[in-house]
Amino acid sequence: MNLVELLRELVEIESPTGDTGEIQARLEQELRAVCAGVERRGDHLYATIEGDEPPLLLLGHVDTVWPRGTLARMPFRLDGDRAYGPGTHDMKGGLVVLLEALRRTETRHAIRVVVNADEEIGSPESRSLLAEAAAGAVAAFVLEGPAEGGHLKTARKGIGRFTLTVRGRAAHAATPAEGVSAIEEVTHQVLRLQRLAGHGVSVNVGLVSGGTRENVVAAGAEAVFDVRVPTLADRERIDAALGELRPVLEGAQIELAGGWTRPPLERSQGAARLFAAAREHGRQLGLELEERSVAGGSDGNLVGQLVPVLDGLGPEGGGAHADDEHVLIASLAVRAELLAMILREPGL
Ligand SMILES: [Zn+2]
Repeated sequence: MNLVELLRELVEIESPTGDTGEIQARLEQELRAVCAGVERRGDHLYATIEGDEPPLLLLGHVDTVWPRGTLARMPFRLDGDRAYGPGTHDMKGGLVVLLEALRRTETRHAIRVVVNADEEIGSPESRSLLAEAAAGAVAAFVLEGPAEGGHLKTARKGIGRFTLTVRGRAAHAATPAEGVSAIEEVTHQVLRLQRLAGHGVSVNVGLVSGGTRENVVAAGAEAVFDVRVPTLADRERIDAALGELRPVLEGAQIELAGGWTRPPLERSQGAARLFAAAREHGRQLGLELEERSVAGGSDGNLVGQLVPVLDGLGPEGGGAHADDEHVLIASLAVRAELLAMILREPGL
C-alpha cells in the first residue's frame, strides 16, 4: 500500500489515549505482515523478528492528544506537499515510517518493536514493557518527529509535574489580620519556584487557583507546575530545593505532591555513535542531519538508562498537538529508507 494511503487510514481511525483498541487492531495486522511474533500486552503491542546480531529496539505510540470527533473539523487532507490531520506528525507518520522500514530491511539484527497506547500521558502502564524490551538491546530508535529542520535527537530533558497545596485561615475581608491568606502565600511560593529555573532547567507554574470570594481571606490555594531538567544532577538539585520549601507567612501550611514522570535522556557515547551512523546514511539520501537536544519528553527518556537512544526518526512536519499538524509527504519514504539503512548496519 502507498505510504500516504496508509497514513490516511491510520489518521482516520481516531485514537485518543484510552481509546486505542481499533487502531491497535489495525497496527497488529500491519506488524504481522513484517514480524514473526506479535503479542498484545494490555493495550500495547510487542513485535519481534529473530536475528543473529543483538537486538535493535523500535519505539512508536498510537495514542494522540486529539479527542474523538476531531476529524469532523480537522479531516485528513492533502495540500501540496503536505498531509494534514490529527496525529499525522505525532506520530502516525512515524508509524508509517517504522512499518515501511521493516518492509524494506533485510537485517541480521534481531528486532523488537513496541507500539504503546499511553505515551501522551507519560506511558504509566507501558513503561514496564518498554524496560523489558530495552533489556539486552544495543540500540533504540524512536519514531517521534524530528527537531526543526529534520534533525535527530540524542538528548531530552527530564520532566516533573508537581502540585503545591497551601492552607491558610479564612477571615472577613474587613479584618484580614485575623486570617492567613493562602493566596498571598502561594504567590510567594510561585516566585520562589520560578527562581529555581536557569542553566537549562525550566519551571512553569501553569495553573494557580484559590480562594472563594473577594470579601473572604482565602483559606486555600494551589499551584500546579512543570519542571524540566537536562541532567540527573539538576534533578537532584531541584529535589533538594523543593524539599526545602517552607511557608513564608506565619500560620500558613504548604504541602507538595507529584513527582518526576520521565527521567532526563542524557546524551551518551552510544547515542553519539548511533547519530554518526545515521548522519552517514543520511548523506547518501541527500540529508544533512544534525544532532539536537530538546526539552520535550518521549519514551526515549524511559529506555535511555538501559540502551543508547536515537530519537526524532519520524517524518518531517510540524504542528504537533496543534490545528495545523502535518507531515511532509516526501519525507515518509526518505525517512523509511534512512531507518532501513540504519537497521541494516552490522555491528551496531
Ligand atoms: Zn509522540
